[in-house]
Amino acid sequence: MRRSYLGKILLNWCDACHTPVLGSVCGCGANTRPVHITPPGDARPAFQADIDCINELFSDHFGNPLIPEGHLAVLNKIPDRDRMEEVICGGAVIAAIRYLPEMQRWEVLPRTAVCRYMTPVRRFVVIDDGAVASVRDGASVLAPGLVAIDDSVEAGDEVLIMSRTGECVGVGRAKTDAETARGMARGTIVRTRKNKSDPCVPGAATWDAACRSNRDILDRAEREAAAFVRKTAAEHPVPPTVSYSGGKDSLATLLVVHGAIGPVPLIFADTGLEFEETYDNVATVSERYGLDVIRIGPDGSFWEMFAMRGGAAKSASSSP
Ligand SMILES: [Zn+2]
Repeated sequence: MRRSYLGKILLNWCDACHTPVLGSVCGCGANTRPVHITPPGDARPAFQADIDCINELFSDHFGNPLIPEGHLAVLNKIPDRDRMEEVICGGAVIAAIRYLPEMQRWEVLPRTAVCRYMTPVRRFVVIDDGAVASVRDGASVLAPGLVAIDDSVEAGDEVLIMSRTGECVGVGRAKTDAETARGMARGTIVRTRKNKSDPCVPGAATWDAACRSNRDILDRAEREAAAFVRKTAAEHPVPPTVSYSGGKDSLATLLVVHGAIGPVPLIFADTGLEFEETYDNVATVSERYGLDVIRIGPDGSFWEMFAMRGGAAKSASSSP
């Protein structure tokens, strides 16, 4: 069942350019199609470190990396106990990665479309032609339908379910290890996970091309935001400032405000717990745009509260 969500998810895909697009028409003129990601849907580009991490996880688990060089990947953070992200390639969620804090390791959760990008050499099962249709519909892999099971499969592993012709027809979690499965006459081998997915159309692209695909949409959004800033500043004759955290959202806000009404001071709330890179970013950005920084805190209240109530269980914000 699709979860209800009041906000709008902007992620679309252009199959001509192989780029994410934040609207229904790409810069190339082609119509885009929506990518169905999990709300709230604040997707972001996968950086090289993300791609290296994902490729290492897939190489460890399935014997091959997932994301080829020259292809764009987008990550969508989804609610979980710790970090969990959907991996979007070719205009479809092709997998998720989830961090398991109690085991201090990552887990990969593939979807059927991963096989548009990667052929597994480990942790797969092969099923009989007669079982393909029902497994595609979400039925579990039962012992009579099993043709082969890779030696590496352990109970609890995420596995890919392949047809005899090498097509991935499903994904799921193994209920038993390979040796036990081979000796079984009946019973469940793999609990199949239902996953209806968007079409997946792999193709090489660059982030420069993605910028071209989105230029008109972003220019329009920037003009609207600048008009709002000018109107708000005119209606409220108080000294304007920008709250600046050193993250992407406040940088974008700063650039819009700067473009709309000129230089304004930055307010930087220093919790005393910031990363060194955050302080560097505040210094670099304020210097580049010649802006004053109004620094607030730290006043020690964080540690007083920490002593009284302990640490926060989970950050309330997804933004850096
Ligand atoms: Zn396009």
